[in-house]
Amino acid sequence: MRIVLSLALTLAVAGAAAEPPWKAGVARVRITPEEPIWLAGFAHRDRPSEGILSDIWAKALALEDETGEVAVLVATDLVGFSREDIEALAARVLQRVGVKRERLLVNYSHNHSAPVTRGVLPLYYELPPEQVRAVSRYTDRLFDQLVTVITEAVRNRAPAQLAFEQGLAGFAVNRRRARPGGRVLPGPVDHDVPVLSVRDAAGRLKAVVFGYACHATALAGYKVSGDWPGFAQAALEERHPGVTAMFVTGAGGDQNPLPRYHGADERLKPYAEALPQMYGRILAAAVDLVLAAPMRALAGPLQAKLGEAELRFQAPPPAEELERRLAAAKAGYERRALGHLLERLRREGRLPERCRYPVQLWRFGDSLTLVALTGEPVVDYSLRLKALYGWEKTWVAGYMNELLAYIPSRRVLEEGGYEGTDGMWEYGLPAPFTPEVEETIVSTVARLAQP
Ligand SMILES: [Zn+2]
Repeated sequence: MRIVLSLALTLAVAGAAAEPPWKAGVARVRITPEEPIWLAGFAHRDRPSEGILSDIWAKALALEDETGEVAVLVATDLVGFSREDIEALAARVLQRVGVKRERLLVNYSHNHSAPVTRGVLPLYYELPPEQVRAVSRYTDRLFDQLVTVITEAVRNRAPAQLAFEQGLAGFAVNRRRARPGGRVLPGPVDHDVPVLSVRDAAGRLKAVVFGYACHATALAGYKVSGDWPGFAQAALEERHPGVTAMFVTGAGGDQNPLPRYHGADERLKPYAEALPQMYGRILAAAVDLVLAAPMRALAGPLQAKLGEAELRFQAPPPAEELERRLAAAKAGYERRALGHLLERLRREGRLPERCRYPVQLWRFGDSLTLVALTGEPVVDYSLRLKALYGWEKTWVAGYMNELLAYIPSRRVLEEGGYEGTDGMWEYGLPAPFTPEVEETIVSTVARLAQP
């Protein structure tokens, strides 16, 4: 049965080779900073970057289905984007190459060894004035580069065949310690490695897009690098010369690669740079295993939808409470966040009660649904949506659009802790989301998933 099935799948892929239903184009641009610059994602850093461990990249894959519509997926070795910059990018892309907003997916690996970009976690860092200017220069150049790389990918379109399959890798660990009953138990993880292969008309591998639900936080020092997602892409590109490897982050809001050297435990210091390189190689091996086996051919058309959920915040603390906390706050970013909320309260008379939450969905015929969630969703979203829509043909990605906040599930909210409760301050948000957050997002996906 297994042999018959894999033969049928091979024939399905081979059959597509005669007349590929897709056109695909790829392009890449190096986005390594050209000067010392503050690195993103951690509040403890107190000075700009010191050297380069590895280059960082932005890569684009343009896909044209049989209807002639073009969609573009962008993968970047960055920590996140601001809403303003993403919307401005989408407008430029629409104007330049006619790709519609719902057909543009922009992912960040959430790499904590990448430069700070403008408007992303602005309260998190205390940048000296010359670094504010360096960040601004970097961000302006970056968005020009993104427009260019997207344009090149669209122009590079040529007949292609797409296929999909899930692999497995095991280094992501649920990092939450606040477990019911106080015991430290391993929480949920998603070890799937979704793999999308792009081959040319002759069947030669041209690009591979792969995902994993985990934070890119194996490195926490002062050197620029792509952390483990960057090393995974580099390992695949080294093994398949000429191929573009693109990483798309999954719903890894509560997942970390462990162990890792985080500056705290000196016994791990000798492993600091070896661990992320090893995690990268593990992930590359998982992708290679999938590429070497028969994969399911993807049919078109590519249906793209963009929806907007409205997420509500719980009641914010009253001004007196914010003032009391401000007086007691130690950490720089906590003081800045509380000051920001008080200032907003004074200026506007109230704090925001809700925020918009973009959800994107790409459906490849009946063979694959890619759910693209904004910000940092915890792993429960991935597990729930795959159970709902099918483990083999659902790909749940997070870290799309703006780095809005952690997106907790109801379970995580009820447990409390960092993701979605304490961590909301870092984003300058007034309070945790209400417990309906999970149902609101899942029902928005359901609405978009209707044919
Ligand atoms: Zn994060």
